[in-house]
Amino acid sequence: MKKITILGSTGSIGIHALSIVQKHPNLFKVIALVADKNTTTMLKQCELFSPNWVAMNDEKSANILREKLKKRKIKTQVVSGQKSICELAALPETDQVIAAIVGMAGLLPILSAIHAGKTILLANKESLITSGYLFMKALSSSGAKIFPIDSEHNAIFQLLPLNMQKNIGLANFKENGVKNIILTASGGPFYNFSSHDLSNVTPIQACTHPNWSMGKKISVDSATMMNKGLEYVEARWLFNALESEIKILIHPESIIHSMVQYSDGALLAQLSVPDIRIAISYSMSWPNRIDSGVDVLNFSKIKKLSFFEPNLIKFPCLKLAIDAFNQGQAAMTVLNAANEIAVSAFLKSKISFNKIFEVNVETLTSSCFSEPESIEDVLEIDRISRILAKKIVLSLAF
Ligand code: NDP
Repeated sequence: MKKITILGSTGSIGIHALSIVQKHPNLFKVIALVADKNTTTMLKQCELFSPNWVAMNDEKSANILREKLKKRKIKTQVVSGQKSICELAALPETDQVIAAIVGMAGLLPILSAIHAGKTILLANKESLITSGYLFMKALSSSGAKIFPIDSEHNAIFQLLPLNMQKNIGLANFKENGVKNIILTASGGPFYNFSSHDLSNVTPIQACTHPNWSMGKKISVDSATMMNKGLEYVEARWLFNALESEIKILIHPESIIHSMVQYSDGALLAQLSVPDIRIAISYSMSWPNRIDSGVDVLNFSKIKKLSFFEPNLIKFPCLKLAIDAFNQGQAAMTVLNAANEIAVSAFLKSKISFNKIFEVNVETLTSSCFSEPESIEDVLEIDRISRILAKKIVLSLAF
């Protein structure tokens, strides 16, 4: 039986991961759950899964949850704050840590799990892209293992030879007969909108993805296509891929979740209905496969599978992320911080959709940092960039 901790259990990924646990009570046992403030969902999860530990980032929420659990005579211990979250991420009795906190807040807990040598099931891409080399170095020196949950990266992982699966972040494409990987992208809800229409879209429209049901931040990132830029960077690190070894292709139906081109001319694709439970369950059960609860693909119902080159002019955030990665780690960390602030401002209707790009670009061009040599450096770049991005948001607000 695998013992698991879920960081971000009340979110979209966390809830889907728990649905897999519920289907397979003989395979998985929940040891600890972590969230920020959502005590209603956390209480239900405690009732269903009886974790030994829960951490709420927010202290008030932890107090509320403690009271509710006491009334129901549930023995789960509740702790609060980031330090406690990091401790739960490294509990000696846990095997797998599902990393599904949204944004930069996930970084320190994930590093804590890495240092403790855990198997990390990575959904939170922001942690990897903001600390790149330092993240991968910590992974290889601690002996921790990583499995990608992001559907495209999970698809690629499924398609790679076993030797590359076992040496994630280190293996070489050529030595393993791999020519390149093709990251597919749905294009988000606005792919066919005109540039003019894009300036008027609302947070609700941006959070209504045509194929996937996800948290708000990643939904907005999908709508700006920043998400595909962040995924490009995530793939560069996870698969040790060179610039020439990754292509991005728009595939609006989200049936093919990515492809691997081999040097003999064979192209392997992973196909399924768009449902993140496949990626989560494969990571949880690797190298085996278990029932994820997802329906099989019905080919007779698929009318077409279409593919296009991405439109980098209409969706400039995608190019911005690729350029920031090429510029260096500091630029990538700045961009992530700016984007988190800009997306949050858009969701609160403080700025329009198109201004997300402006906040990102202005924060990047107004920043000048040396390359981070430690996680403390990364956190400092992130902190300063957030202050700057908030000022830029104010100057662009309605
Ligand atoms: P959600 O917004 O749905 O959930 C976020 C989770 O993180 C919630 O449990 C939230 O708690 C928790 N959280 C937020 N801030 C903190 C904090 N400071 N400390 C502790 N917990 C915190 O996001 P998603 O599940 O959609 O996404 C999570 C991550 O996975 C993101 O990085 C995203 O890019 C990635 N991902 C998501 C996919 C998806 O299908 N959803 C697909 C691929 C990647 P609370 O509920 O209390 O706010």
